[in-house]
Amino acid sequence: MFDPIFKISNEPQPPGLISVPEPYRFDDTEFWRTVPAWRDVDPKTFGDFRWQQRNSITSLPRISQVLGELASPTLLSDIEAGLLRARMNIRLTPYVFSRINWEYPEHDPLRRQFLPLGSQYKPDHPLANDDSLDEEGSKVRPHLVHRYPDKALFLPITLCPVYCSFCTRSRVVGGSTAVKSKSTYGAKPSDWDGSFDYIRDHPQIEDVVISGGDALLLRAKHIRLIGKTLLDIPSIRRIRFATKGVAIMPMKFTSDGEWMDALAEVALYGKGLMKEVALHTHFNCGREISIWTSQAMSALCEIGLMVRNQSVLIAGVNDSFSVLHQTFKGLSSLRIQPYYLYQHDMIPGCEHLRTTVHLAKSLSMKLQGSMTGFNTPRVVCDAPGGGGKREISSHLLYDREIGVSAWSSPAAKPGKTFLYYDPIHLLDEEGQTIWNNPTEIKLRVDSIKSQALDRASAFA
Ligand SMILES: *Cc1c(COP(=O)(O)O)cnc(C)c1O
Ligand code: SF4
Repeated sequence: MFDPIFKISNEPQPPGLISVPEPYRFDDTEFWRTVPAWRDVDPKTFGDFRWQQRNSITSLPRISQVLGELASPTLLSDIEAGLLRARMNIRLTPYVFSRINWEYPEHDPLRRQFLPLGSQYKPDHPLANDDSLDEEGSKVRPHLVHRYPDKALFLPITLCPVYCSFCTRSRVVGGSTAVKSKSTYGAKPSDWDGSFDYIRDHPQIEDVVISGGDALLLRAKHIRLIGKTLLDIPSIRRIRFATKGVAIMPMKFTSDGEWMDALAEVALYGKGLMKEVALHTHFNCGREISIWTSQAMSALCEIGLMVRNQSVLIAGVNDSFSVLHQTFKGLSSLRIQPYYLYQHDMIPGCEHLRTTVHLAKSLSMKLQGSMTGFNTPRVVCDAPGGGGKREISSHLLYDREIGVSAWSSPAAKPGKTFLYYDPIHLLDEEGQTIWNNPTEIKLRVDSIKSQALDRASAFA
């Protein structure tokens, strides 16, 4: 008689049996009550996604009102100055707003991601670019980017539940501001057919990223429509919904039953077809994790979604080994798999948030081997001009003095080379001087370009 070794039990674990070691006991206090306007908000109200949406912070007067005595006049005028230069509007959920330590807002890693201060701006790099990744250049339909052979990026919406100062799509996401006008769009299913048709007509595409904007703001019926339409295409093997939701509005996953049902239905539909349905989220530092994250993840695990994380390396937020290590270990403990850590894109208005390639390389070296391999993110630079994601140490050459690295991209753009430029204010004095001399910098960069072409052919 065959006696199975592994017995599958469907019994749920009694909560008391799940022991959580100390470093992974995330903030379970009622932290939002430190914000004066929310002193009397109970956990049930705070945990309702509708309350989070309704009470999102979208203007300076509202910040001042909500913070009351915590808002110093210096801070408010610094934010006001920041907004005059910002390319993204303000939008923060109460959850993320109250994770900010309002006693030291200048240095707070969350404030830094969502609320620009005039005093922190640095002049843009001369080669910064609105569409640094040249997504428009790889657009095959108004909402579809096809750059890599077997995967595509579908952008059904440009709205997000929060607006990040460093957004790589600040040219279309986050509404018009004092310095940048944009034509944003909401979800409009009749506009999507062209993208679906393109994917059907290109069976080499096996993998679709559903991003934006943010999939969190797609209605339940849109999640169902997009999910099932894509999964029904025979050549599609994997789809992923990209949302910052788990990091900035975890209560969506525990309080929006209709939306979670739609996600669960798509996951189950994928399972029946043996196709992967995943969710990709976006945490940048450990302070974004709390007991609410753990509850959201428990709901997502229950419906069988694989959850991965894509972080951006941001100066003053997560540009040290200890912050990254703690963040990735914390995410891993909740079954969020750290997938990518991106070098900051070369978009305007973000010079104070960028770091050098050298720093990214040294962090990558320290991260490798410091935790489980499959939870160690790949540190990548999305090569400006459409080269795609490149491993940080795979550059063809790197002139650290002037902060210029050169890359090739045999899979996405064979035969071409791409340059990434470190922030000038982080270069040594000699490097900064060279940048002040147009003739000299041109000679140096031209020489890097020609050396890069030589080296690229050696790898071809
Ligand atoms: C990142 C990206 C993808 C997905 O790439 P993965 O490496 O599989 O995560 C697809 N298309 C575009 C244009 C992208 O930028
Ligand atoms: S959530 Fe993503 S798409 Fe939206 S503003 Fe932030 S980085 Fe941009």
